[in-house]
Amino acid sequence: MGKSLGDLIKKYDNVGAKAGWFSLKDDGDSATVRMLHKGQIGTEEDGSPKYDLDVFEVHKLDVDGSGKERTILCKGENCEICKAGNKSSLRMFLQMINLDEKDKEKQLQLWERGITDIKQILGIIEEYGDLNARDIKIKRSGAKGSMKTTYQYFPKDKTERELPEKQNLVGNLILDLSREDQIKAIEGRLEIKKNNNSSAGGDTDQDNSRVF
Ligand SMILES: [Zn+2]
Repeated sequence: MGKSLGDLIKKYDNVGAKAGWFSLKDDGDSATVRMLHKGQIGTEEDGSPKYDLDVFEVHKLDVDGSGKERTILCKGENCEICKAGNKSSLRMFLQMINLDEKDKEKQLQLWERGITDIKQILGIIEEYGDLNARDIKIKRSGAKGSMKTTYQYFPKDKTERELPEKQNLVGNLILDLSREDQIKAIEGRLEIKKNNNSSAGGDTDQDNSRVF
């Protein structure tokens, strides 16, 4: 008849934890992806390059006492979470199509990286131009669980691909909180609304930290 509770938990646990996230599990593993980011999209007023990369200063915090860390946008000078002593970090969220994922429904993936890979991606843009104009093979160097894991990027020749629109992450995956909500989050008593969503068109996904 029905599935056991254990099976159900396993099923939904996997959905929450893995769906939509890019990962390479062990040393030497690789996958070929197509980024949805163009990379440089003009210049800032001061002449420095302007990018369409999703790079943000964020905090990681269990905002609702669920035991699960959420990603919250750092507000800079007036950030209550900074004031509370929680250090912000610079994170990049790469939106990509994983071409090695056989299930088409699951090809759209997200990969969160830090400063080392931000520099690598900027290097690729400088050298190759538009990030979304070619496939890129990503290879993991570092055993499972190693803190010294690094990734190598191998850009391929230019090819055309039809790509979906990049998604807006702020307000979805990355919580953008008012001062009041920041304080609630620090105290672990923020109520996460099902539709903490800046864009229209209800996100019915139960776990709103996942937009992919
Ligand atoms: Zn902050």
